[in-house]
Amino acid sequence: MTHLRYLNTTCAVCGETCRFTIPEAAANVGSRDLDTRPAEPLRSTIYAWVKRCPSCGYCAPDPGKAPEGAADVVKLPRYRVQLDSRRFPEIANTFLCWSIIQEELGAPARAAWASLHAAWTCDDEGEDVPARICRRRAADLLQRAWERGERLAHQEGADEALLTDLLRRSGRLREARAVAKEVLLRNPEPVIADIMRFQVQLSTASDRNAHTVAEARRFKQPTPL
Ligand SMILES: [Zn+2]
Repeated sequence: MTHLRYLNTTCAVCGETCRFTIPEAAANVGSRDLDTRPAEPLRSTIYAWVKRCPSCGYCAPDPGKAPEGAADVVKLPRYRVQLDSRRFPEIANTFLCWSIIQEELGAPARAAWASLHAAWTCDDEGEDVPARICRRRAADLLQRAWERGERLAHQEGADEALLTDLLRRSGRLREARAVAKEVLLRNPEPVIADIMRFQVQLSTASDRNAHTVAEARRFKQPTPL
């Protein structure tokens, strides 16, 4: 069982005193999803990874801190629209607002992660269309990060593996397959190769569901007779 505690903080944008409920630190036991989503119990603590100031709507992992320029982004029309968008679950809006802040402040890699986290909360609510929108946004931001020479993950091929899953799960199956095949031609390390072979198979089967890295490791490509 996850224990809860409280975090009292002062919003770095408007100065309001805020109180948030946060779970005790949790580990993850078991295999991650192909898009890096951790297993339980860490998986279910996602609602506390980002917080929203009830007064000004500033959304951040820690509203007690604000990067320079964040206060201006909070006032932007696109931010205000996202904050209360009825197309997304509330917690997804909170992640997307943090994503907009990062995007506006020139940090597309961080913006991509926040958009992916928004997608996970949509998955939990069974909101397929909003989840696809979040993943499409994350894929675009990830590619923008690459253009600037930034990567989301350190491991060689990990970014491409993440992009493949974002494309597949947002329904861009042909593009997902193309990225996976291109990486396989580069003879990647075994875990990435297993993931990419699995992604080719899933995309070919039009499978848009969540799957784990453990499944990819177990997956053996059918050998032609
Ligand atoms: Zn505030």
